[in-house]
Amino acid sequence: MSKETCWIGISLGRDNAALSTTSVTDNVDIIANEDGDRLIPVCVSFGQQDFLIGTQAKNQLVFNSQNTIQQFIDIIGKNYDDIENRDAKLDEKDGKPVYNIEIYPPFNEENEEEEEEIEPEIKQFSPEELTIRYLESLKKSAENFIGKEIEGCVVSVPITKIQNNECNVLKDVIQKAGFKYVQTISEPAAAVLAYLNKNSEEDILCDKNILIADLGGKSFKSCLVKNSYGIITVLSQEECPVGGKDFDDILVNYFKNEFKKKNHIDIDDNKRALTKLRLASEKTKRTLSRSATTSCSVDSLAEGIDMHSTINKMRFDMLSNKLINQCLETIEDTVENSNVLFEEIDEVIIIGGASRMPKFQSKVESLFEEYTKIKNDIEPDEAIAMGCAIQAKLLSENINKPEYKKLLEDNEIKLPHLTQSLGIEDNNGDFIPIIPKNTVLPATRFFEVDNTNTPLYFAFYQGDSEIANENKLVSQVMIDDFVIEGSEPKEGEKINIRLNLSPENLVINAQNKTTKQSTKITIKI
Ligand code: AMP
Repeated sequence: MSKETCWIGISLGRDNAALSTTSVTDNVDIIANEDGDRLIPVCVSFGQQDFLIGTQAKNQLVFNSQNTIQQFIDIIGKNYDDIENRDAKLDEKDGKPVYNIEIYPPFNEENEEEEEEIEPEIKQFSPEELTIRYLESLKKSAENFIGKEIEGCVVSVPITKIQNNECNVLKDVIQKAGFKYVQTISEPAAAVLAYLNKNSEEDILCDKNILIADLGGKSFKSCLVKNSYGIITVLSQEECPVGGKDFDDILVNYFKNEFKKKNHIDIDDNKRALTKLRLASEKTKRTLSRSATTSCSVDSLAEGIDMHSTINKMRFDMLSNKLINQCLETIEDTVENSNVLFEEIDEVIIIGGASRMPKFQSKVESLFEEYTKIKNDIEPDEAIAMGCAIQAKLLSENINKPEYKKLLEDNEIKLPHLTQSLGIEDNNGDFIPIIPKNTVLPATRFFEVDNTNTPLYFAFYQGDSEIANENKLVSQVMIDDFVIEGSEPKEGEKINIRLNLSPENLVINAQNKTTKQSTKITIKI
């Protein structure tokens, strides 16, 4: 592995995690683990021979259910009494939740012979300990993918966890998993960052109201934010307990009743059969997002009888209507509580794995005006991780600067931006701003000047005064590449000036629009 270090972005959901990096290509890439998974189930499983995470662990839900745990990240930092809908494996120790796990001694030739007598040892693991083991494994996968050691990460957390101060415990857990630096940012801000990175510069340089509709595994979150030149402020947020799992329930009930009608077998009290049917129903739900009709099959669902059934999209949509309407009401409440009108919403960003359901997308779209832009072209369960990677890149490059180091404590995002307007002096000594204050960097601007067949002279200033020389002189630039000695100025001939401003440099590209001759000057700022 290279000695170089890097940072990654992590979206740490209740059901799945996604990792993202900017260290492999120039783009934001999602990291696949050794199993090829881009979305890694939040699940761990203790087997007799091994400790598994992700999809491999999830596959153990039927065969080793006692020692396979999901959704442990959700209860980090909570007291046992504050946990609703407790997992059956959850126990209490000093007021805190712990999972009882059966740990068998590993096979060896000696105890293989006396297999019958081997009793498992019951060990208790806190949700924090399970999360550390899960994250250690994710970190290793990411290091294998990137080929560099990972030093820091930006992790997304739900707004409610930020408001309840629960993310400090989470940060501590992430550091124990081997990440030296950790910043947490809110999920909606990460989603906005992912789309800001994709959009054209004009999209970034403005004041916008953006609604983020996030249909995840457990709940639907609707959040309205204001993006003022890259500074993202949450105006209001609402949540309702409708998530992908409720749409799974619709299918579980549908197939369960079909199975009962056909075979006179009720599986309501059969936990193993219900787990099998739930896994199959979730797959059916995903297929229904891209096909008009699909089947659902489970081998030996109960009493040795297989289940095979089909459902079409129209029926599923009809059964889902009530749940989707609850999500729409939550959006209406968010807008109502924000003092912003529906007509003033510029963009809607749709994210969350379950938002892939076409009916959900079309019903959300129908709430808004025609001119409101619907953004849904980033994979909905990868957008948050991508936003985190963008913030991680910024922090990794600036972590030695105190203002950026402070962000590690603040859950805030920061886009590099221009603190004072940059412009040029005109013939009267006035300051003509070209790139206004607060513009997010990097930024590009164009302007044109006449080709008078004399050297071009620009004095660049930064500041707020209308008089050029009351501002800070950045650089004086002379360009004589376009002067042809002994020739007269050509009427109407223009020189196109393109300014590219990054946090480090101002690059001036000048091009004669007629001859296409060009020249480039770089100024360190
Ligand atoms: P998230 O919490 O954002 O990872 O979303 C997880 C939820 O998204 C789970 O309930 C998944 O079943 C659901 N999901 C993922 N892909 C699809 C799909 N193609 N169609 C419908 N639901 C999906």
